[in-house]
Amino acid sequence: MFEIVTFNISCGGYWVKKRTGDVGYIGGDVKTIECKPTELFTLLSDEFGEGLYINKLWYTLPFEDHKDRKKLSYVRDDAFKEMCEAGEWKGVVNLFLVNTVDHPEDQFQEPCEEEIRVERNVAGFVDEDEDFDYHNTPLNSDGEEEEEPLLRFKPGSGHLELKQVFDTIEDFKDALVEYALKGGWNIKLNKWGRIKSGAVCGTEDNCPWKIYCSYEERYGKWMVKTYEADHKCQKDGYSKILKSGVIMKIFMDEIRNDIDLKPKYIQEQIEQRFNLITTIDKCKNAKKMAKIIINRDHEEQFSRLKDYRLAILATNPGSTVVLDTVLNDDGAEVFQRFYVCFETIKKLWTMWCRPIFGLDGCFLKCTLKGQLLAAVGRDANNGMYPIAWAVVDVENEDNWTWFLQKLQFDFNLQGGQNFTISLIRSSSSFIQHHRSHSITQVSFTTLNHT
Ligand SMILES: [Zn+2]
Repeated sequence: MFEIVTFNISCGGYWVKKRTGDVGYIGGDVKTIECKPTELFTLLSDEFGEGLYINKLWYTLPFEDHKDRKKLSYVRDDAFKEMCEAGEWKGVVNLFLVNTVDHPEDQFQEPCEEEIRVERNVAGFVDEDEDFDYHNTPLNSDGEEEEEPLLRFKPGSGHLELKQVFDTIEDFKDALVEYALKGGWNIKLNKWGRIKSGAVCGTEDNCPWKIYCSYEERYGKWMVKTYEADHKCQKDGYSKILKSGVIMKIFMDEIRNDIDLKPKYIQEQIEQRFNLITTIDKCKNAKKMAKIIINRDHEEQFSRLKDYRLAILATNPGSTVVLDTVLNDDGAEVFQRFYVCFETIKKLWTMWCRPIFGLDGCFLKCTLKGQLLAAVGRDANNGMYPIAWAVVDVENEDNWTWFLQKLQFDFNLQGGQNFTISLIRSSSSFIQHHRSHSITQVSFTTLNHT
């Protein structure tokens, strides 16, 4: 059994059926990741970012042919488990990524000779010059040519033009999406590669509209080289470029703010905002993709929180850093609250500061919500002096008490006799509730009760 498995990852290419009937994967390049199979998706996300989720995944074992490849799913667990087990027996797994935007239906086409040659050259180029950052190619500065000012796409305008330049090919795609949404045009990507990318009209009307963009080494940017700007078609209310991945991108922030956002709402919004029709399945898919990314982000941030705690303790010995977690219904560890007070602050505050501190609480406006609780002191010059802070899942009596207990312990406040706590203007219900009382009594009464 192998604990660490070698994953040979072919990416950037696609499946073709050869004349002989065999299946082949052409184009792209190969990367290697060595890890435990369970860590695979995390490492793939690191490697490919959000772009991973527009890829379909297949795998083969070392003795298997391409035609025996099996599909992997980001959501279906059993296929993934099977791959893990097989990987642990063999030690090596071949993984294949196919971009679903480039090759939406995984259609098997026989590539023409030219395409194979170009793909091979690209693959060869990448292998030889892996570290060559061609986006940073300096501008041609031999002084013989007059430098024309570069024509840039204005975000929000949806306006495409010949000779327009883009920093990355993704920027070009974003511009295409913007063009389609602004004008309600049906367009589709027909080429998506390292050398040349482009789109054509997506209607069945034999419309001449098309655009091509390719990398311009002279400027180190992607440039529109061909643009037929006029449509001769009738708008049909659809846009083929509006795939799940694109919808996900458009609604990502909204889904982050409301994880229960309904696919039906997304579908209606697309119609209202862009006058475009889309299927409910695409919206469901977009939501599913967004959720995968959001959950992955949360897991990643959560795991970093533990690292953050250890890092503070390692660099600031004597500090108090508490991370409390609870188990949810599925038995998974989830965040409850986090408290930080640095050793230096504890020492200096006790030595120099006036025995008065303020408490404040505010909402955190991110996906995870939560509340920030803070204790602020005044130094000898009447300046604000941060003492300790905490992030809690909800603001309630229990969490405030917990926070005050931590302060009480860290600053040896005992029964609170010699200190004044002032309440800073706050939306906090705890603070509102106790505003009318003397907080010195209230908070420490609360503390002493627990
Ligand atoms: Zn058209």
